[in-house]
Amino acid sequence: MNTAFLQTPIDYLKGVGPNRADLLKKELGIHTYQDLLNLFPNRYIDRTRYYKINQIQQSNAEIQVVGVITGFKEIAQKRGKRLVATFQDDTGTMELVWFRGQKWIRESLKLNTPYVIFGKTNWFNSKFSMPHPDIETTEDHKKSLSSGIQPIYPSTEKLSNKGISNRVVSKIVQQLFLETKGKFSETLSPFLLSELHLISKSEALLNIHFPKSQELLSKAQLRLKFEELFFIQLQLILKNLIHKSKIKGHSFEKVGNYFNTFYNEYLPFKLTNAQKRVLKEIRADLGSNAQMNRLLQGDVGSGKTIVAFMSMLIALDNGFQACLMAPTEILSAQHYNGLLEWCKTLNINIEILTGSTKTSIRDKIHKSLENGDLQILIGTHALLEDKVKFKNLGLAIIDEQHRFGVAQRSKLWHKNISPPHILVMTATPIPRTLAMSVYGDLDISIIDELPPGRKEIKTVHRYDKNRLNVFRFIKDEIKKGRQIYIVYPLIKESETMDYKDLMDGYESISRDFPLPYYQISIVHGKMKPTDKDYEMQRFINGDTQIMVATTVIEVGVNVPNASVMIIESAERFGLSQLHQLRGRVGRGAEQSYCILMTSHKLTNDSKTRLDTMVRTNDGFEIAEVDLKLRGPGDIMGTQQSGVLNLRIADIVKDKDILQKARYYAKAVLTKDPTLTSIENHKILNTYKAMSKFKNIWNYIS
Ligand code: ADP
Ligand code: MG
Repeated sequence: MNTAFLQTPIDYLKGVGPNRADLLKKELGIHTYQDLLNLFPNRYIDRTRYYKINQIQQSNAEIQVVGVITGFKEIAQKRGKRLVATFQDDTGTMELVWFRGQKWIRESLKLNTPYVIFGKTNWFNSKFSMPHPDIETTEDHKKSLSSGIQPIYPSTEKLSNKGISNRVVSKIVQQLFLETKGKFSETLSPFLLSELHLISKSEALLNIHFPKSQELLSKAQLRLKFEELFFIQLQLILKNLIHKSKIKGHSFEKVGNYFNTFYNEYLPFKLTNAQKRVLKEIRADLGSNAQMNRLLQGDVGSGKTIVAFMSMLIALDNGFQACLMAPTEILSAQHYNGLLEWCKTLNINIEILTGSTKTSIRDKIHKSLENGDLQILIGTHALLEDKVKFKNLGLAIIDEQHRFGVAQRSKLWHKNISPPHILVMTATPIPRTLAMSVYGDLDISIIDELPPGRKEIKTVHRYDKNRLNVFRFIKDEIKKGRQIYIVYPLIKESETMDYKDLMDGYESISRDFPLPYYQISIVHGKMKPTDKDYEMQRFINGDTQIMVATTVIEVGVNVPNASVMIIESAERFGLSQLHQLRGRVGRGAEQSYCILMTSHKLTNDSKTRLDTMVRTNDGFEIAEVDLKLRGPGDIMGTQQSGVLNLRIADIVKDKDILQKARYYAKAVLTKDPTLTSIENHKILNTYKAMSKFKNIWNYIS
C-alpha cells in the first residue's frame, strides 16, 4: 500500500464515521490511516500461556490459570463482606475474591468444574489471590479464543466513556488491514533487513497489532523500534553533514608558536588522556574547512578550562581572536584571573568585559578588539552586545551552556562575516544516548577522566535529628581552616516558603556559629546582584567561613578551600542538581565532604537519589540514574522533549537498538551520502515521504 493512500482521513474508514473520527483525532491525535496504523499497543495480554499455580510469581502480572473451585466462604470485613473461593489445580491452591456481585457469582459458578480464570494476582495472607477474575468454563474458553495475544491500545477516559473500548479500536485496526490487504511498503533497504535479521514492514505491522506468537511480537517490536530510531538518526546525521558542507569555517592550518611554546614550556601539569583526546578532536575540527560546532562535556573539575585555553591558542596561532563567555560575572572573573598568568608569560593580550566594566575601559576594549590588538576576550552576556565588534573572531567558547540558549549561540555566530568555530562546554553530563538523540547538530567530545590525585568527595546522608553532630563536624573543619557551604532548596512554586526556610536556617546557624568567632555569608536570589557579588567575594577571599545560600551558587564557583557542602532538604533536589552542588567542593588538596540532610519521610525516588549520591561521584553514572528516574523529557526540559516523543522505542530501555540505529545510519550515509543508490531506494523514499507528511519529523527543529 503506498504512502499517499495512507494519508486518507480516518473518517473514510468503514466503522469510523464522523463522531468517532472526531474523538480519535482529539483524544489520540489520529487523523489519517497512517496514524491509526502507527497507534501501537501499550502492552499485550498473553492468553496463549497457562500458568500452573506453583509458577505464579509475586509480580502482579495478568495471567491465566486452569483449575477448579473446591469451596466458597464469606468473610466479614469493615464494610459488608467479601466472597472467597478456593481455586485449585494439580500444583496448588489460590483464592478468587469478589467484593461485589457475590450473589450472582455464587449461583452461576459450579464446584469441581474446570474453569479458565484470567486476571491480576495479589500476594495476600501468604497466598496468591485474584480479585474479580475473568472466568469461563474450559469449553467456552476454547470456543471464544480468537487471538492468543491481545493488544491493549492507548486510551483515554473520554474514549472509553464514549464507547470506544479497546475492542472497538482493535476492530477498526482490523478494518484497516482488510482495506489495505495488510500490504505496506517496505521502508528499509535489503541490506539492513538481512544484516540485522529484521522482518518485513508488513509482517511487523501485522504482528504488532495482531501478534501470532510471542516470538513474532518481539521481532515486530525490534523491527519497528529500529526503524523509528534509524530514521531519526539518519535525519540528525544528514542535518549535520549538510551543515558542514554549507557552512565554511576558517581553516586553522597550523599549530604555531603560542601553542607549542605553551605546550613545551609552560604546561602546568601533564594532560590527562581524556584531555589529549578531546584536544585532538578539536584540532581536527579547527583544521578542516567546516565550521566547528562542538559540545564539550566534562564533569566538574575534569579540566575543561585548559582545553579551552589551548584551543584558543590555535586560533591565535592562525592570526585570529578568541572569546570565552561565562554566565556570571564571578565565573568570568575566575576564568580571566586563571588565564591571565598564562597569557602574561606568552605575551598575549587578554581582557575581561562584563556589565560592570567601566565605560572608559569598555571603550578601550572595543577599540582594541576592532583593531585586532586584543587577542582574547573573556566575559558575560556583555560580549553579545552589538557594540562589541571583533576584527576577526575565530573561536568562541561558551562555558556552562545550560545557562545560555541556542539563540545566544547563534548570536555569537554573527559576530563575524563568516561564523567562528564554536565550542560549548558543559559540566552537566548528558547520558550518551540522550545526547545522541538530541544534539544531532553538535559533535560531542567527552572528558571522562579526572586529573590524577583528586580525592573522592565523601558523601553521607544524615537525618535532621543528627544536626548537632553535623554542626560539631563543621566546627572541627572550620578549626582546620576550611570553609563550608550550606545550601537550601529554592523552587519557584513555593518561593516564599523556601525563602522562609532559608532565613530560619540562617538565623539558627548564626546562633550556633556566633560572631565574632564565625563569619557567615548569605546569598540568595532576592538580593541585588551587587550585594550578591559582595557576599560571594567575601567568601572567596576567605573573610567568611560559612556560606549560606540557595542554589544560586550552583554554577561553576571555584573556592578550593571550601571542603564541606551541606545540602538541606536534600530530598527535594533533583539528582543532577545535587551532583552540581557537590561539585563546588573537592577542588583543593584537602579531603572534602558532602552531607545530605533530609527529614525522615522519604519517597522511593528520593531514596534512590540519595543512595546514588552516596555511592558514586561519577557524573555520567548519576546522569544515567537520573534519566531512568525522570525520563528524557524532564531531563532536557520541555522545549526539547518533543524529540523524545517516540512512538515505540524508548531511549532508556532500547539503548542497544539506538546504538545500532546510529551505527547503521552512519554506515549507510558514509557509503551513499545522497541515498541515491538502488539499494537505498526505499530508505530515500521513506525519508522523503516522512519530511513531506511531517509524520514524526515535525518535532525535530
Ligand atoms: P572544569 O572542567 O570544572 O572547568 P577546571 O578546568 O576548572 O575544571 O579544572 C579543575 C582544576 O583541575 C583546576 O585547578 C585545574 O588547574 C586542574 N587540572 C586540570 N587539568 C589537570 C591535569 N591534567 N592534571 C592536574 N590538574 C589539572
Ligand atoms: Mg569550569
